[in-house]
Amino acid sequence: MNKYQDSLYRIFDGLPKQYKRLGTAMCDFNLLKELVDRSIPKKPKDLTTLTDNDKTGMCECCSRVYSDQNFCEHCGQALDWLDNDK
Ligand SMILES: [Zn+2]
Repeated sequence: MNKYQDSLYRIFDGLPKQYKRLGTAMCDFNLLKELVDRSIPKKPKDLTTLTDNDKTGMCECCSRVYSDQNFCEHCGQALDWLDNDK
């Protein structure tokens, strides 16, 4: 869990039970969770390494193709280009 997830869950857990029962509380939580989840870098799909410094891949959320960008310009998903398999 990253610091944004920690903070979101801490706030939600601290809310009164009667507020949590309201549908709006869950809607707010899920909306913010979606934003927080986008801040956690995901590996691009179909990662292709052209050279050591030149890679292309597809955003997992919206299938747009990028070359070595830290965030998807369309949906805001953080992208992780590091090759951890080596
Ligand atoms: Zn995207």
